[in-house]
Amino acid sequence: ADADKRIDGKAFAESLRAQVGDAAAAFEKLAGRKAGLAVVLVGEDPASQVYVRSKGKQTLASGMESFEHKLPADTSEAELLAMVARLNADPAVDGILVQLPLPDHIDEQKVIAAISPDKDVDGFHVTNAGRLAVGQPGFVPCTPLGCLMLLKDRLGSLSGLDAVVIGRSNIVGKPMAQLLLAESCTVTVAHSRTKDLADVVRRADIVVAAVGRPEMVKGGWIKPGATVIDVGINRVPGAEEGKTRLVGDVDYADALPVAGAITPVPGGVGPMTIAVLLRNTLVAAHRNAGIALDQ
Ligand code: NDP
Repeated sequence: ADADKRIDGKAFAESLRAQVGDAAAAFEKLAGRKAGLAVVLVGEDPASQVYVRSKGKQTLASGMESFEHKLPADTSEAELLAMVARLNADPAVDGILVQLPLPDHIDEQKVIAAISPDKDVDGFHVTNAGRLAVGQPGFVPCTPLGCLMLLKDRLGSLSGLDAVVIGRSNIVGKPMAQLLLAESCTVTVAHSRTKDLADVVRRADIVVAAVGRPEMVKGGWIKPGATVIDVGINRVPGAEEGKTRLVGDVDYADALPVAGAITPVPGGVGPMTIAVLLRNTLVAAHRNAGIALDQ
């Protein structure tokens, strides 16, 4: 039935958060302190404010310490770099997240490079990107790692499956492709210059769409029985005048009858991102404190 095809990311994220909560309590007993996540927000971008608030709330709810630093939009690059340096040196801070995008006058790559790779729970530092590429332990970007967890939960082994990732950004597409390669998938990465995208997608047992184009992927592009992970979060005009609604990069209603399993938007990949961030922070805390974590 179509209902069984729906991959419930919200429920999965809830159980992951519960697991993290248990492990965070155990960490506190062993380490004599809570695991801590610092989140830095520069400026007043409304979407970023919502993300930062919900990260803070969920960090506290998991029994970890949350340090929120809200800086004005005219903060200089030097001031932000100084804040990152302070957080790098602070033993109460296990993970550091600088909310992107940053204002135009600040070089994002420079700020990411300043974060200690061992506190880079977003996994955006080149050191962590390199570790992922060569198969060393490090931090993996939260959204693609969440996608991989949903895939493995649904499919078990991914070995030998044909996977197509649509999108090649540093935060989603590229790390997703690396993760699938590490699981022994045959990986194709598609992007805006890809020819005959529908034909490329039709070969795939696994489709991960991370494009940012509302409902671009149609049911007719999907191989019957394929598993579809929709990363896209796109706001479009709703049925009622003046209202909006969220849709993914996949035309869900069109793809549902063809796919073997598919994530909805909202309630699919979206809730996984923060849950994985909390997990990464807990892993960082264990490494920083030299305490083993069996996971
Ligand atoms: P980017 O804009 O950085 O990357 C989009 C990618 O899609 C690019 O590689 C681009 O190709 C490719 N692309 C654009 N148009 C087409 C097209 N017509 N056909 C094929 N490929 C195309 O986006 P992100 O990776 O940051 O995010 C992707 C989506 O995922 C967005 O909707 C975003 O909101 C969502 N997202 C959701 C998260 C969550 O669930 N928590 C977290 C992060 C993102 P090219 O490189 O050639 O330009």
